Amino acid sequence: MKHVIDGLEVASADGRTFEVRNPATGALVERVAEGGATEVARAVDAAQQAFDDGRWSKLPVSQRYRILNRFAQSIEDSLPSLSTLESTCTGRPLREMSAQLSRLPEFYRYFAAVARTAEDSLTPFEGPYLSYVRRVPLGVVGQITPWNHPLLILTKKLAPALAAGNTVVVKPSEYTPLTTLQLAKIALEAGIPPGVFNVVAGFGGEAGRALSSHAGLAKLDLTGGTETGRVVAQTAGANLVRVNCELGGKAPVIVLPDADLEKAAGGAIFAAFIATGQTCIAGARILVHESQAQDLIERMVARAVSLRMGDPLLAETQLGPLVSERQLQRTEEYVAIGIKEGAEIECGGKRATSGALGQGFFYEPTIFADVRSSMRIAQDEIFGPVTCVLTYKDLDEAVRIANDIPFGLGASIWTSDAAKGIKLSERINCGVVWINDHHRIDPSLPWGGMKASGMGREAGIEGYREYTQTKSVVVNLDEPVDWYATTKTLRLS
Ligand code: NDP
Repeated sequence: MKHVIDGLEVASADGRTFEVRNPATGALVERVAEGGATEVARAVDAAQQAFDDGRWSKLPVSQRYRILNRFAQSIEDSLPSLSTLESTCTGRPLREMSAQLSRLPEFYRYFAAVARTAEDSLTPFEGPYLSYVRRVPLGVVGQITPWNHPLLILTKKLAPALAAGNTVVVKPSEYTPLTTLQLAKIALEAGIPPGVFNVVAGFGGEAGRALSSHAGLAKLDLTGGTETGRVVAQTAGANLVRVNCELGGKAPVIVLPDADLEKAAGGAIFAAFIATGQTCIAGARILVHESQAQDLIERMVARAVSLRMGDPLLAETQLGPLVSERQLQRTEEYVAIGIKEGAEIECGGKRATSGALGQGFFYEPTIFADVRSSMRIAQDEIFGPVTCVLTYKDLDEAVRIANDIPFGLGASIWTSDAAKGIKLSERINCGVVWINDHHRIDPSLPWGGMKASGMGREAGIEGYREYTQTKSVVVNLDEPVDWYATTKTLRLS
């Protein structure tokens, strides 16, 4: 597959390509053009041209609204093929991918509606003036995305960016560029003009670096690891490019003593092992009252060992492989660290190799008990099917442990008393707190992290606004004052 730049499928100038492989089997899925600074420069130029000539940014919002709705419909029509391709490249079970991608059209429809209904404001400017504030697009936006939810994460950025009238250059993850390239083609067919949505495939160290250091961007929006965020924010910041970063996380799942333990166990397993634990809000720190720990662990283990691992494309599969050998090794290293730190493995703890599983990067769902918050397995983002159970004596200790981590993206609270859950949510330093649920998102819900989990917000009205900037217009309704000709005392502000 080739880059999509200015409405055309183009190879890299130097002809380089790289392989995308199926993590469940190791089989080659496709060779993809490998871009670098040349392709990024070409894509940013195309996006700048498209922005400047107004083919999208100056289109009446009612027309952008119609085109984005057509795009949403085309995505809906393509869901079966997009889900299969996404599942093949990420290794995530088709059941999960289909459920996740079925949400995509909503995002385009929601943000099209937000743009269509956005109203500018009048300000109470003192004196004989009419002053109004418009929201205008930013310009060319760079978007760098990870491999764990390739299309969903892209959509959270792309839908508001396009709705607001920006033009975009996307650098998808080297592991999962295919669906993003496919989406760019669907966009063209749906009537999004050439040059508005460009995709350069390639590696983070080269294409990603070239995009994040391009001085022509108005904004750079990254979802990725916290270390990548630090590098990218510095690079873009040096060019005074505004930056949004959605970064790592390690979500606490707080089980209150009054919770239904069976439901909480189901919730904890869902929080921990969906996407084989490769999510930024993986429930990786399960907090339970010390008197209930054994009971909860037994219920969690019973569920974890019964998860059906296998071919992601089969309807019955519940747990797929890790995305890459690198993620598999990282998981193995962290499990070894956990054992060395003195934590106890309750289930899992090894690679799954039986039958066809041996060809892929499969790892058994793993639950650690006897974990202290200071242990590395409880502090670092493992990004694999590994979760830790920690105990608390009282609510204050639960809060202390929940917040005792550099990340602050998501958390969940399990309780039979919603009021108790709401009160507790006030004390948790995270961008999102679910009560009796986990992983739930909506186009209308602002998303973003506190602390080392990121800066800025995506989705919701706030996410839309972050893809716009204000322009204030002040109209003098009186005769202009001739400043140097008058002797009257005047005010400037
Ligand atoms: P990475 O940080 O490795 O990569 C993210 C993207 O950045 C990829 O496209 C990558 O390219 C690119 N990249 C890597 N290095 C650079 C660089 N120096 N300059 C510019 N671009 C670069 O993350 P992963 O893809 O491994 O994704 C997992 C991470 O994403 C986890 O930490 C997870 O928590 C986080 N995440 C956060 C979410 C949130 O909403 N807060 C949601 C989902 C994931 P390449 O793939 O070629 O390396």
